[in-house]
Amino acid sequence: HRRVVLVRRPPGEPAESDFRIEEVPVPQPGPREVLVRVIYLSLDPYMRGRMRDAASYAAPVGIGEVMTGGTVGEVVASNHPGFKVGDIVEDRLGWQEYAIGGGPALRRIDPSLAPISTANGVLGMPGMTAYFGLLEVGRPKPGETVVVSAASGAVGQVVGQIARIMGCRAVGIAGGDAKCAFVKDTLGFDACIDYKATDDLDAALRAACPDGIDVYFDNVGGPITDAALRNLNVHARVALCGSISQYNATAPETGPRLLGTFVGKRVTARGFIVSDFAAHYGPALRQMGAWIKSGRLKYREDIVEGIDKAPRAFIGLLRGENFGKLLVKLGPE
Ligand code: NDP
Repeated sequence: HRRVVLVRRPPGEPAESDFRIEEVPVPQPGPREVLVRVIYLSLDPYMRGRMRDAASYAAPVGIGEVMTGGTVGEVVASNHPGFKVGDIVEDRLGWQEYAIGGGPALRRIDPSLAPISTANGVLGMPGMTAYFGLLEVGRPKPGETVVVSAASGAVGQVVGQIARIMGCRAVGIAGGDAKCAFVKDTLGFDACIDYKATDDLDAALRAACPDGIDVYFDNVGGPITDAALRNLNVHARVALCGSISQYNATAPETGPRLLGTFVGKRVTARGFIVSDFAAHYGPALRQMGAWIKSGRLKYREDIVEGIDKAPRAFIGLLRGENFGKLLVKLGPE
């Protein structure tokens, strides 16, 4: 079977040559372990951080080691009393076609509830990020205006829809016509700004948010976030989720210094990591599942086929080439 290992730590934008595809024997499960055939591999922006050897909330991937990643797969051999052959499971097994599971992250999925790919997306880590980042960190109230960047992406698309469900005005920021049309027409956001077609993002935000911004859900950092911060209301909340525009930067980008404006506006900004809320995933997943069933929560996935395509697709994620939650399909369901 094939797997993808990290061979080099790129200082800037990754290249396919920073990864190597290896052919290795299928491993055998030990006591209390399962052998999983991976069906979906999740590709996520945080993986760029794991390629760096820098202090972080999580350890880096070692050179020559398999890239880490969330997976959904099928148990094909089991020495674990809690799992049998044929079970569909979520785990963090990395960029490989077969892997041994049995650690604390191993979780059975009920394929009758939703397509199994959603365990890596709307009903998985990105969905939980949107749910808790918006509701617990952003704390929107009905009638308020919520702005989210990377609005068509895995996290952003869910943020805006939950904001609407909560009775807020939802405004997205996304790159390109097709993404903005999807955000407005399919997902039902009130407005979406195409930052690639706007030379005055400040003015565009003022127009899209006539009552100002009460909650800014930041997925991107950089100039987009600068513009959003300039339009915050008094008592606004900023949910600091990620800064994807900076992930390939070789040096920190210097932008306008806007934190001073937080004083007069009594702004609260809080960074969070989705796993901070892990104890509360159960009820949140049930709520999200109910919203999906009733048609109030939609989702879009961008599925690439074959593990050999993973490095290229990951590089594209950091360039905005994905449209929806990026997944790699490694084998049949
Ligand atoms: P997405 O599905 O949103 O994909 C990434 C998107 O980011 C691209 O499609 C692109 O959209 C946008 N993007 C890429 N480069 C830039 C740039 N230079 N400037 C502006 N936008 C850019 O990814 P996710 O939903 O998985 O992740 C979104 C954010 O959430 C990331 O910052 C990620 O790190 C963070 N995150 C944080 C978590 C946490 O626990 N705090 C957990 C999960 C995700 P476009 O074409 O619209 O520009």
